[in-house]
Amino acid sequence: MTPPGTGSLEVICGSMFSGKSEELIRRLTRAQIARRRIQVFKPKIDNRFSEVEVVSHGGLRLLAVAVASSAEVLERTDARTEVVGLDEVQFFDAGIVDVASRLADLGKRVIAAGLDQDYLGRPFEPMPALMAAAEEITKTRAICVRCGAPASRTQRLVASKERVVVGAAGLYEARCRRCFEPGVASIEGSLGFPEGGDETPPNS
Ligand code: ADP
Ligand code: ZN
Repeated sequence: MTPPGTGSLEVICGSMFSGKSEELIRRLTRAQIARRRIQVFKPKIDNRFSEVEVVSHGGLRLLAVAVASSAEVLERTDARTEVVGLDEVQFFDAGIVDVASRLADLGKRVIAAGLDQDYLGRPFEPMPALMAAAEEITKTRAICVRCGAPASRTQRLVASKERVVVGAAGLYEARCRRCFEPGVASIEGSLGFPEGGDETPPNS
């Protein structure tokens, strides 16, 4: 592990239910045990649970600050903070890449967790750029609910072409590469997509 004060960027990424938040909370809890000063941020768009906590699907939680922009992360990071946690990074604006690099340059350990792919399996910006800037990348995998294999994809179960439909159980499930059906809502009663329907551009 990088010695304190050196600064680094770690990215934790994978599908929904793959344990990204759990892994983020685990690393931050260990930093606290090591008496490092930590701060945790998440974007305000995600109001699924509490605005002031990172919560895993398994029920682990850690206090966090909900912010409206990447600039606010920089503003709110205390000079004495040694470890900065970022959750749901795919919902941050593109500026988060510079902000995370800046914080690492200042000597902080930055740990960022987010979805690597959207519901169609496309790279979910700004994660790819953050991964390029990172010293270390961890890919977490869930369990495919269809076949039990390790899952790397997030299957959307409701018919919507919006890139962001916030929610978890009932709206999305983890699938492996084989069982993943990009763009197809496959639960009973859902409509799926019309043939040849055009795509919503990223982040629209
Ligand atoms: P992420 O942040 O990647 O969405 P979380 O850390 O919030 O994941 O949740 C991981 C937890 O979700 C697991 O420890 C497990 O309790 C639960 N879980 C529910 N469905 C699945 C699944 N299909 N595969 C793996 N874990 C699942
Ligand atoms: Zn499968």
